[in-house]
Amino acid sequence: MKITTVYGPVSSWRLGRSLGIDPICAERKICTFDCMYCSLGRTARKTVDRRIFVPARVVERALKEALKKVEADVVTFSGTGEPTLAENLGELIETARDVSGLPIAVLTNSSLLFRKDVRRELARADVVKGKLDASNDELFKRINCPHEKISLSKVIKGLENFRKEFAGSFALEIMFVPENKQFSEEIAKIVRTIKPDEIQINTPLRPSPVRPLTPAELRDVQKSFKGMNFRTVYKAGKPRVGKVIGKKKIKKLKRVD
Ligand code: SF4
Repeated sequence: MKITTVYGPVSSWRLGRSLGIDPICAERKICTFDCMYCSLGRTARKTVDRRIFVPARVVERALKEALKKVEADVVTFSGTGEPTLAENLGELIETARDVSGLPIAVLTNSSLLFRKDVRRELARADVVKGKLDASNDELFKRINCPHEKISLSKVIKGLENFRKEFAGSFALEIMFVPENKQFSEEIAKIVRTIKPDEIQINTPLRPSPVRPLTPAELRDVQKSFKGMNFRTVYKAGKPRVGKVIGKKKIKKLKRVD
C-alpha cells in the first residue's frame, strides 16, 4: 500500500499555506486522546507508546517530490494521530527543514510534553501549537478522553516546562465546545501561567460530532482572555492555495474547506 505522508498545502488560518506531513500514517487514528470533537472519528488505538511509524528516508523522498509540484509557506507535522507518538519526530523535523528550507511547525495535543525526550525533539521545530481544552480532571476526561496514564496536571506541567525551554514561536489552542464554554475563566487562568506567545480560540468548524459555538458564544468566551494575545477562528482570514497533492489524504483528514 502506498503511504501518503506528505499532503497539501492546505489553507490554515494559523499558518498560511501549510504543507502537511503525517508522521503516523495510520489507516485509522492512533492518538493519546479520543477528543469528543475529533473530526477523524473515534481513536482506533489509544496509546502512549512511541515508535517509528514512517522512516525519515520516506519523508525525505516524498517531500522532495511534493516540492517540485506545489508551493507552501510552512511544513506542518499533523495527520492521522498525535505527532509526538513518532519516536523519530526530531529526525523528521530536521529532514523536513533540510529538504524544504521552510519553517517547520508541529501541532500537538500536549499530552506527552511531560516527557523530557519529547520536549527536546519538539524544540527543534520553529513553531509549535499545543492544546488545552479543560481546567479540571472531570472536564479533561469528558472532552479529551485521554489515555489512562495522562492526567491534566501532567499536561499543564509539560506545557509550562516546554514554554520555558522552547525558543521558537509557541501557540496554545483551546477548542471551545458547549461542554467547556462555561469554564473559560478557569481555563484562561491556567493559560496565564503557561504564557504562550499566542492563544488560538477555536471551535470545531470542520465536520465533527459536536456542534461548534456560534460567533456570539465565542465572543462571550473570548472576554475571559482579555489582555492576552489571542486570535479566534471566526475572525481569521485564510490564504488561497494553488495546486495540491494527496487529495485523498486531505479528504480523509477533513481538511477541505
Ligand atoms: S488530539 Fe487531535 S487527533 Fe487526537 S483525538 Fe484529539 S482532535 Fe483527534
